[in-house]
Amino acid sequence: MSNAFDDLFAANADYAADFALSGLAPRAARGLALVTCMDSRIEPLQTLGLKPGDAKILRNAGARVTDDTLRTLVLAAYLLEVDRVLVMPHTRCKMASVSGDDEVHDLIEREHGVDTRSLEFGTDNDQLGALRHDLERIRHHPLLPDGLPVAGALYDVDTGRVEPVDA
Ligand SMILES: [Zn+2]
Repeated sequence: MSNAFDDLFAANADYAADFALSGLAPRAARGLALVTCMDSRIEPLQTLGLKPGDAKILRNAGARVTDDTLRTLVLAAYLLEVDRVLVMPHTRCKMASVSGDDEVHDLIEREHGVDTRSLEFGTDNDQLGALRHDLERIRHHPLLPDGLPVAGALYDVDTGRVEPVDA
């Protein structure tokens, strides 16, 4: 059996020995759903002054609002007390620095010999345009509550600052 995960399970033993989050409610205590990138430079809770239990965090490559993001937001809004949505991509995101999906497909094929063209990566080098498009997708979704506050912001991975966009 692979020991590729041993470090994680060992760390968890320490974590669970001193577990402080027992009894936390499953709802979002501060009503926030945050859509952000999977980028490991982002610490979503600390960045926005949140603590565990405060927010639903939805992450993917590029912080794009996909069909799965919308599905999750519908559940979060009606079942988990989410009453505001912030979409927060970041500076120097690979997903916004390429010319398009073709560049990523070509890169993976060249370096790994795998043809990924059956996937849509949602890259867009007009990052703010993509963000505004995604905000509109949420605002106009027929199943999300009317008047749900939806805002965008850009996280700067070099300064930690969050700049509101179309808030
Ligand atoms: Zn990113």
